Amino acid sequence: METNDIAPNRNKGRTADKERRTEWQPVHFLQGPPKLWPIRPLGIVKWLYHYLVPWNLFYLAVSVVVMVYLTPSMATMKTFRWDWIAFIFARNCTLLIVFVSCLHVPLYVKKVQGFDRKYNGRWLARNNPNFLFKNQLLDNLFWTFTSAVPVWTAYEVLTWWMFANGYIPYVSLSEHPVYFLAVLFVTPLFLGVHFYLIHRPIHWPFLYRWVHSVHHANVNVGPWSGLSMHPVELILYFSGVLIHWIVPSHPIHAMLNLMINSLSTAKGHAGFEKLIIKDGIEIPMEDYYHYLHHRYFECNYSVGGIMNVDAWFGTFNDGSPEAMEKMNRRVISRQQKAQSEGQSS
Ligand SMILES: [Zn+2]
Ligand SMILES: [Zn+2]
Repeated sequence: METNDIAPNRNKGRTADKERRTEWQPVHFLQGPPKLWPIRPLGIVKWLYHYLVPWNLFYLAVSVVVMVYLTPSMATMKTFRWDWIAFIFARNCTLLIVFVSCLHVPLYVKKVQGFDRKYNGRWLARNNPNFLFKNQLLDNLFWTFTSAVPVWTAYEVLTWWMFANGYIPYVSLSEHPVYFLAVLFVTPLFLGVHFYLIHRPIHWPFLYRWVHSVHHANVNVGPWSGLSMHPVELILYFSGVLIHWIVPSHPIHAMLNLMINSLSTAKGHAGFEKLIIKDGIEIPMEDYYHYLHHRYFECNYSVGGIMNVDAWFGTFNDGSPEAMEKMNRRVISRQQKAQSEGQSS
């Protein structure tokens, strides 16, 4: 998530060390949606660069490699058989373990940068009854491997079976290159809107209590918290791939869709602004936007960026004191309304 330069430096984490628990806030407040008018060519180039580099290009590269080398042939996937379905399940488990560990091990096991650039001033919870086994990491691993990977794999298997049997309108790169690239380009944007549409309803009290509270047990998030969700939430979350059952697509579009939804959650819940490899080499995570959602619940339901749906509906919190104040006022007025309704009934 990009930030603007309006805010003064509020960085409390710069002096962080292992002894002092400090909370990192990005140097600048979070940016709202980009202004589309008047058109600024330099702004468009800048936005395009941040849209693609590094993460969306990385997800695309992984998708291509997995599609070419780690996916059974369409002829094999014409009929449901346990061998290729089990292969995809094992491949998805392995992908997740490798990718999430690249963030979890240095940041949370080796703690190579201590609290530097860490949004929350605590490590993952242990001996906390809010989590299964009273342990946040074990809880997150449980939901990820018993719910998330099976749901992800089920959507993937069904989608390949549909493609293999010609039930999905198929588009090839050679015949429709412009359309092919356009679908590839808008897939992450589509997922941004889809995420808001499935996320907002699960904050309604009934669904929150029974479904979304599993994910929100993680106020202080870690990379494994990303897919730690109730199965109902996962069925909604991964349903974004169904768009390729309707809109003419190539299997790589569906693969990118699933890869973004599965891998990006580790980055989005890393809990750190950056992974510092060594001086001058850093990997940006920059998801303070979603961290604020986990921290305060009542804001930032979307993914931000150009698809900052929160800005359209008044729930955008850019991390500034004014936005916090506005959010608090909204919560208090809602509580007062609920109380007065309770008294009058
Ligand atoms: Zn939520
Ligand atoms: Zn989350």
